[in-house]
Amino acid sequence: MADPRYPTPLAEELAEDVLERFLRYVRIDTQSDDDSETYPSTEKQLDLGRVLEGELLDLGLADTELTRHGYVFASMPGTAGPTVGLIAHMDTSQDESGANVRPQVVRNWDGSDIVLPEDRDKVLRVEENPILAARIGHDVVTTAGTTLLGADDKAGVAEIMGAVAYLAAHPEIEHAPLRIGFTVDEEVGRGVDHFDIDAFGADFAYTLDGSEVGRIDDETFAASEVRIHIEGVSVHPGTSKGKMVSAIKLAARLIERLPRDSLSPETTEGREGFVHPTRVTATTAEAELRFIARDFDAGKLAEHEQLLRDLAADIAREEPRARISVTVEQSYRNMKEFLDHDPEVTEAADEAARRCGIETWREAIRGGTDGTMLSELGLPTPNIFTGGQQFHSVLEWASVQDMATSAATIVELAKLWAEPEWASRASGRRARNAASPR
Ligand SMILES: [Zn+2]
Repeated sequence: MADPRYPTPLAEELAEDVLERFLRYVRIDTQSDDDSETYPSTEKQLDLGRVLEGELLDLGLADTELTRHGYVFASMPGTAGPTVGLIAHMDTSQDESGANVRPQVVRNWDGSDIVLPEDRDKVLRVEENPILAARIGHDVVTTAGTTLLGADDKAGVAEIMGAVAYLAAHPEIEHAPLRIGFTVDEEVGRGVDHFDIDAFGADFAYTLDGSEVGRIDDETFAASEVRIHIEGVSVHPGTSKGKMVSAIKLAARLIERLPRDSLSPETTEGREGFVHPTRVTATTAEAELRFIARDFDAGKLAEHEQLLRDLAADIAREEPRARISVTVEQSYRNMKEFLDHDPEVTEAADEAARRCGIETWREAIRGGTDGTMLSELGLPTPNIFTGGQQFHSVLEWASVQDMATSAATIVELAKLWAEPEWASRASGRRARNAASPR
């Protein structure tokens, strides 16, 4: 009899393989490092890359390679339709340790608070977790309490691998050609720095890097980095009366004038944007203030940047002996701008999830994904749920049933794009873009 915890028999069939892969991958430390100058930022990301390369070769996938930048690529031929990219990132966040991850699987979870075994103060509380509370009876994977889990994004990696392994074992199933891409350094914002879209050769792609089952993201923040440089006048403090101009104090004055009740990460949510100081380095002689600015709307993002320029101009007016300059660098744009040109790409993900018995919805991501940059560079790449929860924390967890549902959605997506109706929408898209290249 079918297990009612799974939306479809396919999800149930995929579950144990996806779990086994997931438990194998999370035990490999792949934390990236923002301060590193190398690419990938840490050598240890290659440890997982080599494992995945070996497993893809074992599945018989063509073009399997671990590139010198640490990406893992592979191809799976299909029967018809466009070439569909499936992407997940191998690295984990620096917010918590990713070393010696010891996952625990709570089978048939009974609905009581889950105490993490190696730090009994760390508890997944049902009353604080409505999404968990809705998963009584599921098999829940948690950390031991001292590290993150790494479901972000090894859930996505395991689901893609599980889906591909299933298709490899069922050559009778018709599906679109697939390109697999596992990236490095997503968490430090450099995930696609060396990603060659032409060599990847997909018509469009999906990142498996989302969270709650049913949630499909086609919108991310637009982002920029703002640096304010203040040059003061440094004089020996014993003889500086009337001469010294302290860059430290001017920097503090500027920070003090940031809005308090709005426009900051700690006071905004939903579709509200913000400016946020991320680092201040200062001496009497000079100071550098780094900010990030974020919004879903490009016009509003420009207003947030202008706010910082205005604050800097005020300080410059008050202290004409200081030299103050502002530089703004665009980090990425809201991917919706690009995905709206190709609505069928995201609609296909909705339809694939629906075939797994899942109703989808959209939510704007207050951040970016690999797909944000890829969409801007010409490879439309919305983001699909993985079932992982509470990313970047020791309270991270994932339901096996949810991960299996994501893997089943990938299989359905691969099948759907080979169907005549969808395949012709994909060629229509290609013709449309050839006629009016962006
Ligand atoms: Zn992620």
